[in-house]
Amino acid sequence: MATVNTVLGPIDTKDLGFTLMHEHVLVGFAGVYQDYPELLGADPLERAASELKKAREGGIDTIVDATTTDLGRDIEMIAEASRRSGLNVIAVAGWWLDFPRFFAGASVDQLTEVFVREVEEGIAGTGIKAGILKAASDYGEVTPQAQVVLRAVGRAHLRTGVPIMLHSYSPGQVGRQQLAILQEEGVDPKRVKLDHSNDTTDVEYLTWLLEQGCYLGLDRYPGRVVSPRARTNTMKALIDAGWADRLCPSHDRSAISFIGPDWQQMEEERRRYNPHGFLFMKERVFTQLREMGVAEDIISGLCVNGPRNFFEGV
Ligand SMILES: [Zn+2]
Repeated sequence: MATVNTVLGPIDTKDLGFTLMHEHVLVGFAGVYQDYPELLGADPLERAASELKKAREGGIDTIVDATTTDLGRDIEMIAEASRRSGLNVIAVAGWWLDFPRFFAGASVDQLTEVFVREVEEGIAGTGIKAGILKAASDYGEVTPQAQVVLRAVGRAHLRTGVPIMLHSYSPGQVGRQQLAILQEEGVDPKRVKLDHSNDTTDVEYLTWLLEQGCYLGLDRYPGRVVSPRARTNTMKALIDAGWADRLCPSHDRSAISFIGPDWQQMEEERRRYNPHGFLFMKERVFTQLREMGVAEDIISGLCVNGPRNFFEGV
């Protein structure tokens, strides 16, 4: 029996159910919820909980909250939103792209200890444990600071057994370099998920990643630059090639985010852009896949088999 840490305690991997592998309860910057909650609009916790509740009522069982400290993770807020909504939430340890100057002096081993502690003992003194590790690189190459975090995440994985999600820049194929660095650390690619992989339509590159053993986060919907339809065409091509159980479709959506002065107007725009919220996958993408002729048993396994296999290390 394999288990995963959620913010409300461990659950069996077979109980993960329909899982969105890259979402956010709240996105901002370090300390925003604690120190400047008014920048998030009225009652962010209640609004977040009601968004998660809608997802739960629409048949989503679990989300991975990909929010690191630098993106404004507040673990008690996340846990409360999970409790109020009934949605399982898996929290992340690691770092995104906002590297503080102080990291210039941080060692890989120091950060490894921090990430291991968040998985084994808990986050911010709460006893709430992370269930996944995260590192990030964007366009260009893996910078020296990103590399320190990436190696630390790799070492924390080897000590805890918790798998790794990578924010990656798929149009620049930066995943090749991220993977090579993790392999230098001794990480098996099958414990790694390359996120934002549907920001490219280059099926050849994506197939190469899958052949290394990786999982793919097809986790930007509706997304920008690449149209939702093009993203779904890419997913269909990978399904047709037999990779359905290595795919993790998701939205990279935030229930609440740091917003401008008129937060109600911003929320209205967000709703126009994606009226389905966390249910866009089920409502739009799965419908399109059905129209494209993908079999029902494959569609019903998407967001179930890939996530479960990934956490089980299959
Ligand atoms: Zn994200």
